[in-house]
Amino acid sequence: MTNKIYNFCAGPAMLPAAVMQQAQEEFLNWQGLGCSVMEVSHRSPEYIAMAAEAEADLRDLLNISDDYAVLFMHAGGRGQFCSIPMNLLPEGGVADHVITGAWSEGAVAECKKYGQANIISNVTYVDGKKTIAPQSEWQFSSDASYVHYCPNETVDGVEFDFVPKTDAPLVADMSSCILSREINVNDYDLIYAGAQKNIGPSGLAIVIVRKSLLGKARGYTPSIFDYQQQESFDSMLNTPPTYAWYLAGLVFKWLKAQGGVAAIEKQNIAKAELLYDVIDNGEFYESRVVKAHRSRMNVPFYLKNESLNDLFLKEAKQAGLVALKGHRSVGGMRASIYNAMPYEGVKALTDFMLDFAKKHG
Ligand SMILES: *Cc1c(COP(=O)(O)O)cnc(C)c1O
Repeated sequence: MTNKIYNFCAGPAMLPAAVMQQAQEEFLNWQGLGCSVMEVSHRSPEYIAMAAEAEADLRDLLNISDDYAVLFMHAGGRGQFCSIPMNLLPEGGVADHVITGAWSEGAVAECKKYGQANIISNVTYVDGKKTIAPQSEWQFSSDASYVHYCPNETVDGVEFDFVPKTDAPLVADMSSCILSREINVNDYDLIYAGAQKNIGPSGLAIVIVRKSLLGKARGYTPSIFDYQQQESFDSMLNTPPTYAWYLAGLVFKWLKAQGGVAAIEKQNIAKAELLYDVIDNGEFYESRVVKAHRSRMNVPFYLKNESLNDLFLKEAKQAGLVALKGHRSVGGMRASIYNAMPYEGVKALTDFMLDFAKKHG
């Protein structure tokens, strides 16, 4: 047995212990077939049934109507940075982009290879803290093919508390917040997420796209990145990432057993409150994001005395609290507390933080 640890990695992130246990139990003998789910054809009736059930469970969890296709695609979140313009941006077209941090900025760099990316709002600060400019200040294009934004910035810890209202189709990178809070899918035209934060193993991307947007891909779009082609092949134009899809299906079932998205959102609120309270109360730690736009999933924080950073990480690790180092671009600490992180994990972290502050404050 390994020692008990709590893993705060931003991604690939921890998965629910119950899911990992189930995967282990059926690793060598899936559905009585005598082999692993990894070793069966994606064209077999057993696999096809499992894949369809995973999609149905996701549709249930997010209440996704038949107006939307749900695709299980390759190449993770970033794979969508190019797939979106290839599928939705005509030659010579304009895409509006809201930048609130590292990931929404990354999407711009890729989009520019295919057309014009118009930055309608950029990272904003109030009193040195990151915030999100209100929509009334965004400089929309008159002719955008879509508006792209990132509801939760994984590196920066900035999360939207509103859904933008746009004339052009709304595209959301939900890689680090999908299934963490209730949403109305009908507010969006395309939602995508790399799997390795709240869904399953890396490499897989989930795309939820309004069917009326299909069929506009550029001629040179690789078939495996063409939404319409993938839709017509049930995401099996080629061999999909079969094990990742299977594990995602287990996570969806686990989430349903927790009571679904509404129930997990309550837990996520409680976890985030516990952690931000400890950061805010006292003189030892600080958050550099304005309260209204703080992420519930990724909580960056700083020690006011940054010379204690290495010691903090070392002692945290000794206490079984791992992967707390902030992203190299922003420094400090970051605790990622996705759906799979139990309340006790956050409690263990805050107990450690209070202790550490007492010892070194
Ligand atoms: C992790 C992440 C990505 C990139 O995912 P990859 O699967 O590594 O390509 C994109 N956007 C956001 C918001 C992320 O958190």
